[in-house]
Amino acid sequence: MTENKFPVQPGSLPDSQPESCPGGSRRLPPAPAPNWALFLDIDGTLLDIAARPDEVAVPPVLRRHLAAVQQALDGALALISGRPIIEIDRLFDPLRLAASGQHGSEWRRGPQQMTEVVARHPVPEPLRRLAEDLKQLDPAIVVEQKTHALAVHYRHAPALGAVLGERLKAALADHRHLVLLHGRQVWEVKDASQSKGTAVRHFMAEPRFAGRLPVFIGDDTTDIDGFRAVEAMGGMALPVGPAVHGAVHPERPGFADAAAVRRWLGDYARLVDGAAA
Ligand SMILES: [Mg+2]
Repeated sequence: MTENKFPVQPGSLPDSQPESCPGGSRRLPPAPAPNWALFLDIDGTLLDIAARPDEVAVPPVLRRHLAAVQQALDGALALISGRPIIEIDRLFDPLRLAASGQHGSEWRRGPQQMTEVVARHPVPEPLRRLAEDLKQLDPAIVVEQKTHALAVHYRHAPALGAVLGERLKAALADHRHLVLLHGRQVWEVKDASQSKGTAVRHFMAEPRFAGRLPVFIGDDTTDIDGFRAVEAMGGMALPVGPAVHGAVHPERPGFADAAAVRRWLGDYARLVDGAAA
């Protein structure tokens, strides 16, 4: 693992308290320093996981807190998600942030800019139809057709996870430009050339982000590309919960769950902008 080249700058929040975290206990990270570039996954990191992806709830105060943090970091904050950017905007409306969607397949450099597509290899129609057919195995399977990816959720049919993975893997054998990701009770098919790691690298080349200490917060295996990208740049990976516990040294700081991330952001937002409380 790459060691941090920059010391973590302690913020002015009260001393971090260890949080209980399945698979280990981590101390909370210090408050963000003014030189951070903050990359935030959404589901399971900022928001609690819901039964269906379209049923997540965004606490209104979270919008205010994100806006305050983004301002305190001079705009160096981006949401890095598997969701399409159009959906990210719908969730956080009226707040618009810099964002990367569909696992690095598209990005928006800043809140006022247009979404740009970076994916080079579309998911072909036959593969999309095959994914739809998988619903015949169990009506509880949810297939999400995205413009540059597709996701097969099996949260309510957990016993079928392995079968779904095998079917998709077999279908992908002829598509070497695509890759199969395994997230929390979801399989995703996407362009192999893009990831949350490439998204981080794109942002770090932008004037708003360049020269800052990159920090990535994520809860799922698909965030590990983001972790590795920030670590390679001397930054910091902050894991959330047990799924990515093994991806980051246990003595590094982290969060027990999304609620802990929201509290941490809220504490910092109040510190930099009392009106954000
Ligand atoms: Mg997540």
